[in-house]
Amino acid sequence: MTANAHGKIVIIIGPSGTGKSTLIQRVKESFPELIESISYTTRPRREKEVDGVHYFFISKEKFFEMRDEGEFLEWAEVHSEYKATGKSFVEKKLKEGKFLLFDLDVQGADSIINVFPNESRAIFIAPPSLTELEKRLKGRGTEDEKSLKVRLENSKKEILRKDDYDYCIINDEVEGAFQRLKETVAAILKGD
Ligand code: ADP
Ligand code: 5GP
Repeated sequence: MTANAHGKIVIIIGPSGTGKSTLIQRVKESFPELIESISYTTRPRREKEVDGVHYFFISKEKFFEMRDEGEFLEWAEVHSEYKATGKSFVEKKLKEGKFLLFDLDVQGADSIINVFPNESRAIFIAPPSLTELEKRLKGRGTEDEKSLKVRLENSKKEILRKDDYDYCIINDEVEGAFQRLKETVAAILKGD
């Protein structure tokens, strides 16, 4: 598969609450040629999320059935729930030479980079501090106490990986961070 692939994969990584979804939304508006890979998850749907748009929300039973059928490119347990990237959609789009956009945790990013080393470019979005990350996560109001705790614990580990990827952008002030991300994505799509 890798040898025939001509498209490109832009991977956005970063701890929960760092601002990935906020920035990705704007990147999609600026680069309509980027096609988002919609992940599968067993996590409960949040109020504002739409099935088939933000994720494909599936049961654990279905998740493991699909995994065992080889329908995932990668899968991981993320914050005590399961997440996976669908295989056939991504392979088809890459063969067509399309640009794909992924929002992954570090495990997923490492797997995809391993499968598509030539096509993948990874951008880590880091928060300015852990205190600010906690503030954002609480402010979003989507997590209960338990989930908040798990996410903050995982963030500490994920932040240690911030310099392991092609690019690192600190999402301090959203406008500046978006401009830097936009420049980075433009460079990647041009051939960086
Ligand atoms: P993620 O997708 O990484 O989990 P979100 O995009 O949902 O994070 O952002 C988490 C919260 O932080 C949201 O309420 C969002 O509006 C807010 N946020 C995002 N970027 C910034 C920023 N640069 N400064 C302050 N708040 C931000
Ligand atoms: P959330 O539950 O807040 O939507 O996402 C939590 C984490 O799961 C984020 O770090 C996000 O990047 C990651 N994630 C989303 N989809 C996938 C996926 O398909 N595979 C992996 N490995 N992680 C994912």
